[in-house]
Amino acid sequence: MSQLEAEDDILSGLNPQQREAASHGEGPLLIVAGAGTGKTATLVHRVAWLIGQGIDPRRILLLTFTRRAAGEMLRRVDRILARQAGGGSLVRDARVWGGTFHAIATRLLRLYGKSIGLAAGFTIHDRSDSEDLLNVVRTELGLAKTDKRFPKKGTCMSIYSRCVNARQRLAPVLKRHFPWCEDWEDELKRLFDAYLDRKEAAAVLDYDDLLLYWDALLADEEAGERVRARFDCVLVDEYQDTNSLQASILARLCPTGRGLTVVGDDAQSIYGFRAATVRNILDFPKQYPAATIVHLEQNYRSTQPILAAANAVIGQARERYQKQLWSDRSGGDKPLLVTCENEQDQTESVIRRILQRREEGIDLRRQAVLFRASHHSIMLEAELTGRNIPFHKYGGLKFVETAHVKDLMAFLRLAENPRDLVAGSRVLVLLPGIGPKRSRALMQLLVESGGSLEPWRSWTPPLAAASEWPRLVELLEELRGGEQGLPAQIHAVRAFYEPILLEKYDNPAPRSRDLEQVEQLSSRYADRQAMLVELTLDPPSSTQDLAGPPQLDEDYLVLSTIHSAKGLEWDSVFVIHAVDGNIPSDMATGSPEEIEEELRLLYVALSRAENFLCVTCPLSYYYSPGRWSDAHGFAQMTRFLPPHVRKLFRECVSWIGGDGAGEEAEIVTGLSSEAIRRQTKDLWS
Ligand code: ATP
Ligand code: MG
Repeated sequence: MSQLEAEDDILSGLNPQQREAASHGEGPLLIVAGAGTGKTATLVHRVAWLIGQGIDPRRILLLTFTRRAAGEMLRRVDRILARQAGGGSLVRDARVWGGTFHAIATRLLRLYGKSIGLAAGFTIHDRSDSEDLLNVVRTELGLAKTDKRFPKKGTCMSIYSRCVNARQRLAPVLKRHFPWCEDWEDELKRLFDAYLDRKEAAAVLDYDDLLLYWDALLADEEAGERVRARFDCVLVDEYQDTNSLQASILARLCPTGRGLTVVGDDAQSIYGFRAATVRNILDFPKQYPAATIVHLEQNYRSTQPILAAANAVIGQARERYQKQLWSDRSGGDKPLLVTCENEQDQTESVIRRILQRREEGIDLRRQAVLFRASHHSIMLEAELTGRNIPFHKYGGLKFVETAHVKDLMAFLRLAENPRDLVAGSRVLVLLPGIGPKRSRALMQLLVESGGSLEPWRSWTPPLAAASEWPRLVELLEELRGGEQGLPAQIHAVRAFYEPILLEKYDNPAPRSRDLEQVEQLSSRYADRQAMLVELTLDPPSSTQDLAGPPQLDEDYLVLSTIHSAKGLEWDSVFVIHAVDGNIPSDMATGSPEEIEEELRLLYVALSRAENFLCVTCPLSYYYSPGRWSDAHGFAQMTRFLPPHVRKLFRECVSWIGGDGAGEEAEIVTGLSSEAIRRQTKDLWS
């Protein structure tokens, strides 16, 4: 194959704009385009094209929002190049650097962190560990005991994190985002100062630090130059969801924009609550005046009627790049909008349709149910389990965030980094007779001894822990010796921890199975540190998820929060709980900006569907006791589906009939949600 033919082959299947972007030269490049227009596909082809041009894959850095996305994209690059090489893969042993900002930061800091004074063996705190450490400091400073209520640890963490990621000072952050905490400015300053000192003493980095230190590494003259010299090309997907710190990292990596490609859709920016800023994408041309901007307008994902509905929803946004998306996938039905009597009816109606689609030949894995908040799927999960319909859930509480897995990991983390106060305290308070105070004192001993376990061995434990204490010290010594393989280490921890698990939890059997799985799967990791990093940075949702790509013959439905569905697509998509209070969430209706972000979130959900889209709104709600005096409440259809948007849907009402089976009727004219409710009530009253 000639060079020209080879290039053509790599780019085959792309439209002219996509080709232009994929084969763009060295200057800074921004691809800004709506959902489903092939932004990610173009980025994949660009990586392949660059390698085809002779760029060393190890000098290419691909930044994505999740590890899954990076893996999937690089597999596609592999396939394109393999096709070219007549079956043999070119990139398999010379890997592109691919991953999330946080994962890449970790890799680079392990390599170069020493030059900015960072201990090589640092451990990483996930969000809840960070909150725990902040809480320790908060208690020590006596802030938890003040007369007026000091902000909770989660709020303190959000304030801190926003300052760091948005690179803003405390006072304006409080004023704008946390006005109810403004009185506490001085105390918060003291708290954050002490928190920073604590992290330093414990040699831990939290999520925000990873970015902060990466940025500082690049700002360092010598180390920065070495990191810059490693990469020729830097490519970023989902750029709309990066924050100012990430933009700064990119600017330091590619100061003139040479070799930089970013891809995104301002209409899908949904991480403002975590300080992501759509300004990054809007200001890219200002920051890099030489930038080429490519727009993509053909949507390849959705049928025309689905695209029309999604476009109408985002058409209500106040501020955005105007985009005219079109699809030549004509045909297909209007999306469905089903008003349900209540949540049970919604569950019934969704499951019925999913099974119907399966009968029509659409596997479960090509169907997804999306929702705003993780707990919105609880009833559906119970019903699916009851009917033996397999499913996978993404988003929400992750498997490694469960208490028992965290306990297990704490042993490994303590062995890895004896100064890690949070991990250490977690382990210590598992023993009878040891509380937070004693555990802090014991951790202090470890810090003073430079990590040696000697002072622990000579410590006299309270009577209740007399037999466990020497066994714990012995276990930790064994782990720190690191002579056993990782599965053996985990096995040893389990042997110590299982009796505690039996005591501590009501339903120990499934938890114990989880730990067994962790032991089995641990052999996939190079070493303990690799496993801890991977599980902390991109926690899997379930043990199945940890087991790697599912077998081809395994079929399961996908349940996902809308946030975790970003960038993905399915043949059939069900968006449930489309009522005010859920979307927009009543947690996020503080400001017009927050409402606008919720609107974009609904747009992200609707634009995941290829051929079939169904939105459901349960009108009557069951509230958990205690939250409301009345156990039931009535909901309104989401404000983001006003009558002119609803015209693009086929509207139905659904109710549970006398025999318990679901029934449905089409609404012929567009009605207000009140009228639908009235009509629905008429059906059974
Ligand atoms: P999102 O905004 O949701 O991240 P995106 O712009 O990244 O979407 P992709 O996921 O890359 O879009 O592509 C959407 C779908 O369109 C995919 O199934 C992809 O394979 C397909 N596609 C992209 N470009 C083309 C093309 N030129 N011809 C045919 N199909 C295409
Ligand atoms: Mg994409």
